[in-house]
Amino acid sequence: MFQQLTALPADPLLGIAVAYRQDDNPKKVDLGVGVYKTEEGNTPILTSVKKSLQILLDSEESKSYIQARGNQAFLDGMEKLVLGADNPLLSSNRVESVQAPGGTGSLKLGFELIKRGNPNAKIWVSGPTWANHNALIKSTGLASEEYPYYDKVNNQLRADEMLEAFAKLGKDDVVLLHGCCHNPTGEDIPADLWPKIADLAVENGFTPFIDIAYQGFGTDLETDVQGVRHLLSKVPEALIATSCSKNFGLYRERTGLITTISESPVAAGIALTHVLNIAREIYSMPPSYGGATVGILLGDEALTTEWKTELAEMCARMRSLRALLVDKLHARDVDQSFDFINRQNGMFTFLGITPEQVQAIRDEYSIYMAGSSRINIAGISNSNVDYIADAVAAVLK
Ligand code: PMP
Repeated sequence: MFQQLTALPADPLLGIAVAYRQDDNPKKVDLGVGVYKTEEGNTPILTSVKKSLQILLDSEESKSYIQARGNQAFLDGMEKLVLGADNPLLSSNRVESVQAPGGTGSLKLGFELIKRGNPNAKIWVSGPTWANHNALIKSTGLASEEYPYYDKVNNQLRADEMLEAFAKLGKDDVVLLHGCCHNPTGEDIPADLWPKIADLAVENGFTPFIDIAYQGFGTDLETDVQGVRHLLSKVPEALIATSCSKNFGLYRERTGLITTISESPVAAGIALTHVLNIAREIYSMPPSYGGATVGILLGDEALTTEWKTELAEMCARMRSLRALLVDKLHARDVDQSFDFINRQNGMFTFLGITPEQVQAIRDEYSIYMAGSSRINIAGISNSNVDYIADAVAAVLK
């Protein structure tokens, strides 16, 4: 059976990670895969998370199965984090969440649910979007199309075109929106546009599907989801896929949740039965560890405060690295302005250089980034920023 198969090309981004590891240039820099790193290039376990893990280890009494929908303290804590503790939706009985393996698993459950609800639904993704969005939609067998999002030439949001595209949508359309810290562009939907998107969704009946993978990495935990909360307060139905990989640093523990907002409590209960059934057919129930850890953390005031401080530190470091990179580039008399990097949010930005220039930087400087010129801001450090700026300035001359 397997002899019929032909080998697939390596995932481009994971291929970059392998090439980076094999490079013996001591000055090499990894700006590829989206993982937070410290000044020293490490991705440590957050102290608040480590303490929560310890509590879990000391208190866990069984490795028997957990309930199908996951850890209840985790689900309650995360719904409050995303929606806001005083959000009336929380007591409306229209909201149901199920723990899933990471943001990716949550997205997959969401797409499968859409397919059950409306096999003719079309998913609209931002142009560009995180590559795995397209893969997940395709594997589910749903149609997809891009809406205008980022103007690569002028490094800005294509706001008017995006709204024009949304104005043409209807009941069979689902719009996948990045809640904050857009991957790969770093360009977010500004506060004043969310109400316009909400109005269009209400008028035309399309369904928003919000992907929240970086809450707290943009400005802060509240500001980052302000627009999302407004939108969710207006629409009858929506989906939210939330990842705890980045903001809790739980990457390998595969921790996330899919949340459905339904028109009525009855519809919400029905949607839940389907999400649980879909999960049962794929992997039965979610891994316990990450959810249990976050459940402990968010249920403890002191640990939550500590986590918020650690998260704010990561966020501030990425902000300052953006400013530092822009200063260093401008100090090298490059022709174009890189000010847009400061306006953008989260872990990513497009440098706006050509694939050939990306390749030249890799060949001549051992600096690794995606072919699109997407860089992981957290891969920059005080000790490598001059080297990076030198390389970028050199290929631009
Ligand atoms: N959505 C977006 C936009 C992402 O960038 C990521 C992580 N790269 C995810 C979802 C899912 O992350 P994970 O499955 O690791 O939780």
